[in-house]
Amino acid sequence: MAKVLIIGAGGVGGVVTHKCAQARDVFDEVVLASRTLSRCEKIQREVEELQGKKVRIAQVDADDVAQTVRLLREHRPDIVINVALPYQDLSIMDACLEAGVDYLDTANYEPPDVAKFEYRWQWAYQERFAKARRMALLGSGFDPGVTNVYCAYAQKHLFDTIEYIDIVDCNGGSHGKAFATNFNTEINIREITARGRYWEEGVWKETDPLSVAKMFDYPGVGERKSFLLYHEELESLAKNIKGLKRIRFWMTFGEAYLQHLRVLENVGMTRIDPVSYDGHQVVPIKFLKTLLPDPASLAAGYTGKTSIGCLVEGVKDGQRRKVLIYNICDHAETYREVRAQAVSYTTGVPAVTGAVMMVTGKWKGHGVFNMEELDPDPFLEDVARRGLPWHVEERPLP
Ligand code: NDP
Repeated sequence: MAKVLIIGAGGVGGVVTHKCAQARDVFDEVVLASRTLSRCEKIQREVEELQGKKVRIAQVDADDVAQTVRLLREHRPDIVINVALPYQDLSIMDACLEAGVDYLDTANYEPPDVAKFEYRWQWAYQERFAKARRMALLGSGFDPGVTNVYCAYAQKHLFDTIEYIDIVDCNGGSHGKAFATNFNTEINIREITARGRYWEEGVWKETDPLSVAKMFDYPGVGERKSFLLYHEELESLAKNIKGLKRIRFWMTFGEAYLQHLRVLENVGMTRIDPVSYDGHQVVPIKFLKTLLPDPASLAAGYTGKTSIGCLVEGVKDGQRRKVLIYNICDHAETYREVRAQAVSYTTGVPAVTGAVMMVTGKWKGHGVFNMEELDPDPFLEDVARRGLPWHVEERPLP
């Protein structure tokens, strides 16, 4: 049996704590630590009520490596699941190395003062983790995460050569608020307002933010307008899927959402640099975060479904084919199970499956790994059992 320590008591952290508590065959002890203890207490109460398990809680500022090392030495977990913010990735990796603990996260590092995420910083830990004989698993959420594993599955079972991948992400749900983000506001808006980027024939190509759109038919939701975005799994998949000619990422947004975003951008509310207000330094996007609904609070009353998958095209046994590998997740069902909306759920469940793969030795290695570098079969079997079944659908060729 294993002991898990979760860092970050937000929307995703809540799901991870519930699902680790449910996984009684793997984890006998669950600890949840975060910056604000009251958020841990709330999740602790819910988990006890719904899962009948008492989890331990602790306060930690994960930006502080020494504090995090003390926490790890006190609790001695087998693995840390980092579902705080991408800003904490490197300090938590440093703490794991110092305390000798395996590491997992769901989003790659980005520096707070530059809206730029890439794997370079975390890949640089390869040698240190290998030398310490520890494993770090990067991006074990849905996208990145399950989408990487779908690509690995396609490469292993469905294709001899994969040429084109389009990752398609639709939230067809409704939370009834005028404007809200489904995960951390700051990280979400930084991602969406960045320039679009995709990889073709070995070269990265850029587009203006949200300037390229296309209709996709999402199972369980229907046709939706989807916008080309840069997303972190493109970087590792372009490197790890052999023979690839092009990879892109698409996400749906409603007209009302885009209109709010445009206004907020135009008036400067999405700026990430400090401005002086009334003698104080204020970062507009952080202030905006305090005004908008907390993503975890959207869960009650959320209706509809998410539908996320990978459209993969290539050649199998000399024949061209195109398939969609996907999952559909229902907001109301996830609320009933763990009091969370489907965006938190589809991120938290794969984080738990990734941790299960590591502590049971189904995935093992020393160093830093992206999801598609490991065997997709045991992961997909486990993630389906924990709540995210997957399907393969043949699609017409162009
Ligand atoms: P939230 O903002 O709801 O939660 C983040 C939590 O981390 C908060 O409880 C926050 O504490 C805590 N935290 C922030 N800074 C620190 C710190 N220095 N030390 C300790 N705790 C800290 O975010 P979400 O739950 O929506 O998202 C969590 C992560 O999941 C993000 O990294 C996000 O990018 C990632 N994600 C990944 C997806 C995927 O598919 N791969 C999809 C969606 C999200 P406090 O309450 O004090 O602010």
